[in-house]
This record gives sequence, structure tokens and C-alpha cells, in this order.
Amino acid sequence: MSKRDYYEVLGVPKDASADAIKKAYRKLALKYHPDRNPDDPEAEAMFKEAAEAYEVLRDEGKRQRYDQFGHAGMNGNGFEGFQSTEDVFSAFGDIFGDIFGFGASGRGPRPQAGADLRYNLTISFRDAAKGMEAKLKIPKKEVCDQCAGSGAEPGTSPETCRHCNGQGQVYQSQGFFRIAVACPVCHGRGEVIAHPCSKCRGRGQVNVNKELSVRIPAGVDNGSRLRLRGEGEPGSNGGPHGDLYVVIYVEEDKVFKRQGQDLITSAEITFVQATLGVRIEVPTLDDPVPMDIPKGTQSGTVLRLPSMGIPYLNTGQKGDLLVEIKVLTPKRISKRQEELLREFEKLDQEKPMEKVKDFFRKTSKKVMGD
Ligand SMILES: [Zn+2]
Ligand SMILES: [Zn+2]
Repeated sequence: MSKRDYYEVLGVPKDASADAIKKAYRKLALKYHPDRNPDDPEAEAMFKEAAEAYEVLRDEGKRQRYDQFGHAGMNGNGFEGFQSTEDVFSAFGDIFGDIFGFGASGRGPRPQAGADLRYNLTISFRDAAKGMEAKLKIPKKEVCDQCAGSGAEPGTSPETCRHCNGQGQVYQSQGFFRIAVACPVCHGRGEVIAHPCSKCRGRGQVNVNKELSVRIPAGVDNGSRLRLRGEGEPGSNGGPHGDLYVVIYVEEDKVFKRQGQDLITSAEITFVQATLGVRIEVPTLDDPVPMDIPKGTQSGTVLRLPSMGIPYLNTGQKGDLLVEIKVLTPKRISKRQEELLREFEKLDQEKPMEKVKDFFRKTSKKVMGD
């Protein structure tokens, strides 16, 4: 059985460029592709012949040897031609991917980012307002430290997958086309683990409780999310770690409420203090501060202490502290207090009556003047 000259097979001159050789082969591969020539032994022979020619001529060393010694130079050099069309697909899968538009190129599974994790953290109202350092314990997967994620017992290494010959992919017919799919045995890795790591049992990942110290900035609110890059689960096939999202829940406080960046609290004073004015102490996020309640303050009045509220996350500037004044009415008073109040009432009544008289006087004057 005599072999045809490889250049003749591909229909290119002896000095053809690598690019011209590749183009010529693609053309022939497409023409004699088994999907287009089902049950045609002649086409299959041409298909394999073209692949064999391409296998030799695309390789600088083999091409030189072939140019010098012809087919004889190829014998015993580890290349005997392709036995089946499957061999051709395995060798040049990437070219078929190019031709048919399938992504058959790129051996092995794609890198995948690890999963994002969510951690719910409940903190006190004051910690949210003032910021804190939180110690978290995150149950998660991490790269196995014994095998560095390879899954193979230290001292051993993964072996080439026999099912796909280490290609990581096998070919399947799908209608007209043959497409590359991930090898079902090695899941596209091209290798299998013969001696699994004893710590992770070959998974390459272990469950850990990762301890993390997280700075919770002053001003976080209920539902605030902090993103910690790369603190999620590890990726696979060299993909990056996912992220960790810390979701903040803020407890209610007995003294303060929050309204945007303003803090709201209340202070109770007696009706006498409200009438005469008084200096009281008002609670803040730090020490209490003195505040003057002016004479004649009504119940429900809101007094404002600037910049004693909750900081904005981005600027650090603070909202205000709003103090709602509640005037208390005494429920029990002594006899003496009652006497004084009655006298107070009498004095108080004279004024309004005078005002009323005044009003009538003015009105009647007007009427009379008409
Ligand atoms: Zn391991
Ligand atoms: Zn495989």
C-alpha cells in the first residue's frame, strides 16, 4: 500500500505556509466530514488521509523529516496515521470547533467563581450608631490545605483519564454535527485521581469555620449589607472565590429611635418647669448633655441638638438629636399645692376676662363708629 504525498493530499505546494496548510486541511475536513458523508468509506478514508497529512505538515520537526526522508522518515516516530475518525476529532477538535462554530476549543472545564455567602449579623442600636469590630465565625468550604485543592494525596498526582485520553472531552453526534462534550468520567479535567487526599477525600475542599474580624462602620442601618470580597466559597478549576455579604440587623433601643440620620428621644418635665423654663440633662450616644428648656414650652415641642445624631456612612457628618418634650400633669398634689393652684387659677382667669372685655370694647366701638 503506497501512501500519497502529503502535499498532494492537501493540494498545497511544498513551500506552503503553515497558514495555507491549515486552511487547505480545513477545507478538506469539511468536505469529507463524516457527518456530511454518512456511511461512505471512501470519504472516511479521504478524511483520515487529510488529517494524517495535516498532522505531519503542521509540525515543524515532522515536516522537516518528511521533506528529507518522505514517508520512510515518519516510521517509528510515534505516528502511524489515524485509526478512526474519533482519533481525528480528538487531535483536531479545536479546528472542528472553528469550522462548525462550536466551542470545542479550550480543553478542560471552565474556571468557575465560588458561591457568594450571606451572614446575618444582629447588633445593638448603639453599636450600629457608633461602629464596632465584629468577630464572625463563618461555616464555609475552603481549599484543602493538605492537597492544595488538587484532591490527590500528597506525594501522588492525578493520572491521565483513559476514557478521553486526557483530552477532557469526547465527541457525540447530534443530528448533522459532532460536538465536543465534557468527558463523563473525569468531568472535563482530563485526569482522574487515583489516590484521593485523605483529608478532603479527593474533593479538594474541606468544611471550615473561618474566623473573621469585620469593622462595622458607624451609621449602618437595619438591612445594610457589607461585602467582603473573596471571603465566599472557593472557585473550581482555578476560578476566584465568591464574596461574603454580611447583612446587618439592628436591635431596637429603649432610649433612642432612628429617623434617617437623626436620633429621636424624649424628655419629661413638669408643667411648672415647662412654664418657668429649666435646664435638664439629655441622653446622647455618649455622655448626657445639659439642655435649656425655654420658658413657656408646650408639650410635644421638639428641640434639636445639632450634630449629635448618627453619622452618614460616606461623609462621617452626623445628623441631629431631636428631643421631644413631654409635659407631665401631676396626678396627686398636696392640699397646700391645691390652694396655691386655685389662687394661681384666679389670677390667671382675670387676664383672659380682661382680654375678652377688651375685645368687646373694640368691636362695639367699631360698630358704633359706623
Ligand atoms: Zn485534600
Ligand atoms: Zn476523561
